[in-house]
Amino acid sequence: MYTDLPLIKRYQEFLPVTEKTPLVTLGEGNTPLVQAANLPKHIGQSKLKLYFKLEGLNPTGSFKDRGMTLAISKALEAGSRAVICASTGNTSASAAAFAIKAGLCCYVLLPSGAVALGKLAQAILYGARVIALDGNFDQALDMVRQLAADCPLTVVNSINPFRLEGQKTAAFEIVDQLGAAPTHLFIPVGNAGNISAYWRGFKAYKRSGRAASTPALLGFEAEGSAAIVRGYPIAAPETIATAIRIGNPASWQEAAQAASESGGKIDSVTDAEILDAYILLARNEGIFCEPSSAASVAGLIKHCKLGTIAPDATVVCVLTGHGLKDPNTAMNLVKADLTPVPAELTRLKEVMKL
Ligand SMILES: *Cc1c(COP(=O)(O)O)cnc(C)c1O
Repeated sequence: MYTDLPLIKRYQEFLPVTEKTPLVTLGEGNTPLVQAANLPKHIGQSKLKLYFKLEGLNPTGSFKDRGMTLAISKALEAGSRAVICASTGNTSASAAAFAIKAGLCCYVLLPSGAVALGKLAQAILYGARVIALDGNFDQALDMVRQLAADCPLTVVNSINPFRLEGQKTAAFEIVDQLGAAPTHLFIPVGNAGNISAYWRGFKAYKRSGRAASTPALLGFEAEGSAAIVRGYPIAAPETIATAIRIGNPASWQEAAQAASESGGKIDSVTDAEILDAYILLARNEGIFCEPSSAASVAGLIKHCKLGTIAPDATVVCVLTGHGLKDPNTAMNLVKADLTPVPAELTRLKEVMKL
């Protein structure tokens, strides 16, 4: 069902807003849920009903917009003048865009050298005050907490309670789009806010009678930054999937509980598995997502091999961000011969082997 109502209005009854809350919207949410055509067969699971939730189609290219529309609207309602976040990239892009629309000043602290090119370009172009921090994400978030304790700044990281409330809406949309809850939801895990938000959303929909069941949530950290899986914070997290390169997840407890309460688990995938899934999505489904997003599909492939997923399960993989955010990973991964060919038909036919 198409609607052009802003996300906050559409799901108002489930969100902490009133008629007085100003609405800062960029057209977020309402993202497509697309059924897989080729991947189930490719991974030997041809009966699987597999869907992708394309969160990269949000206005700034990631799911962060769902939480940011609410966080910025509430900051405005509270009279805030400036917001701040630490970010592996997508939070900063989203915060910068919504803040500028609301007329708020936006500071972003980015771990120097560890943010994908497209995300950096966004934050700069939207006019945020970008600071490259000589430190990793966890250190940047620690600085943000300390700055906000001293200065009149609203933190819009997922420790801001409105972020997760807004992100619940993705679960609502999936149930609305499928007509029922899926049996399983696969999702990348970084700071662990999103998986926590989905669980809140699925539970709220069930309580309200809009869904008869809730899915098992299966969350995937990258192996080099798998704090929850290992059970301790990782001081120097490493992974090619920069959006989930986080060593001490802020929503650790809620995420761990969400996974177990739902009958799922938090697991990890290697960078090699992530990159395999990233290429498989492009070449089987025509989907270009971020490497971090592909962790959900890498997790699905891993669990299908383990035999833990019923053959006819209804599975949604959340693809959290758009592939165009990180062109360098694509270019470095797949070598293309881009030597110019003369504009001559015979030469062209030779090269094309026609
Ligand atoms: C933020 C982000 C994640 C991780 O989400 P958390 O809520 O931090 O677990 C995954 N993928 C992308 C593309 C992101 O931007």
